Amino acid sequence: MIAPSPTTGTPPAAAEFDLELVRKYNVPGPRYTSYPTAPQFTETTPAEALVAAIGRDNDEARRPLSLYFHLPFCETLCWFCGCTTVITLKRDAASDYVGHLEKELALIQPLLNPDRCVAQMHFGGGTPTFLPPAVIRRLGQAIHSRFKFADDSENSVEVDPRRITRDHVRAFRELGCNRASMGVQDTNPEVQLAVHRLQPMDITRQAFDWMREEGYHSISVDLIFGLPLQTADSFARTIDDVLTLCPDRLAVFSYAHVPWIKPSQRIFEKQANLPSTEEKLKMLATAVRKLTAAGMVYIGMDHFARADDELAVAQREGTLQRNFQGYSTHAGASIYGFGMSSISQTGDSYRQNLKELPEYQTALEAGRLPFERGIILSEEDRIRRQVIMRIMCDRRIDYADLSRRLGVDFAARFAGEIASLDDLAADGLLQRTPEGFVVTGVGALLIRIIAMRFDAYLEKGPRRFSQTV
Ligand code: SF4
Repeated sequence: MIAPSPTTGTPPAAAEFDLELVRKYNVPGPRYTSYPTAPQFTETTPAEALVAAIGRDNDEARRPLSLYFHLPFCETLCWFCGCTTVITLKRDAASDYVGHLEKELALIQPLLNPDRCVAQMHFGGGTPTFLPPAVIRRLGQAIHSRFKFADDSENSVEVDPRRITRDHVRAFRELGCNRASMGVQDTNPEVQLAVHRLQPMDITRQAFDWMREEGYHSISVDLIFGLPLQTADSFARTIDDVLTLCPDRLAVFSYAHVPWIKPSQRIFEKQANLPSTEEKLKMLATAVRKLTAAGMVYIGMDHFARADDELAVAQREGTLQRNFQGYSTHAGASIYGFGMSSISQTGDSYRQNLKELPEYQTALEAGRLPFERGIILSEEDRIRRQVIMRIMCDRRIDYADLSRRLGVDFAARFAGEIASLDDLAADGLLQRTPEGFVVTGVGALLIRIIAMRFDAYLEKGPRRFSQTV
């Protein structure tokens, strides 16, 4: 288990927007939902080595489980989408897919120590509410018959208000979901039309009401800035609209234009209606100003939460975690991902499932684990992972504390990296202290720039990441 940092109770500096600094440091970089990051996973990592990593992960029987289920289907494609999806109108696809999830559960669950409890579960996509309620209940049966859950497990589902009925809300609630995140992106009908996602505010509000009435105690809303036709003023109205819903958390993502990965995004280049970088920066400034004024706390990397939300509390207490699902309160949980393209994380490994549906299904029908690629972490990787995750979560580093946790002399081992922070300190992104360094309010929005200085892989060759903003 991960001990809290010695700064328990001290909140990081509130985020501040500095246009010149954001402009200067708006360079491509990883989002550090893992370290090493996904481009380091290789197809040459043998499945046997990844299974052996599961065995080592079992040695700590008290290490909780975090289950992730990737449900990839969507009825229509939102043109900005960067997720791994399967676009179809065929509902039978969902039932068929759950059959394959059952096969995958049957292969993985026997590898796990039966004393381990599920502390967290997440259904992502795609659109989990594409599954008909009866199929959701069947999936719930398959999961609960194989795993035992902690009484206070946090179980969440991503919902699309355009594809939801009250029975969907109930079915996921019966399955144990007590949290939800909802895609809204932008409430302006012109923007919605330009991105192929029409979603009147009435249906968003209806979905919200259903979830509150059915007992979902935390609801998060996802917004995206940088979409076609958006302006700082129009995005301000979107923020006002979603604040009327009183969400517990908000994720305000920068639109990632990566047409070399997502060819559907080329349509925005043809339409020439994407906002300029300068306008995007104004949108980000607007979001920080309005959400902070509304009492939301900036957690990091696009995420805001109410000051009394568990994420904000965990950050104050130095126990916040970061993984493929973003920020999390569950220290030390191992992630077991199910479904095509899902990513799993154990103490010393990451692995990703096959990313194409036919290959994923073929592997399971042949009784094979559907692993596509992975990595076994070296001692060096594990040390750097802790350093980068503490920067991303705590926004401060205490050299003595990290030396204790890592069993190394941190200041000596990372002398080069620490010295490389001089320009960032001079620009005010961080302040050096007698104990280490603390990220400032303006540095909070540029946190990955600081983390990148501790990434040993960035020097080893060019990779393509999206811009910071
Ligand atoms: S509904 Fe979500 S996952 Fe599906 S295409 Fe739209 S943004 Fe992507």
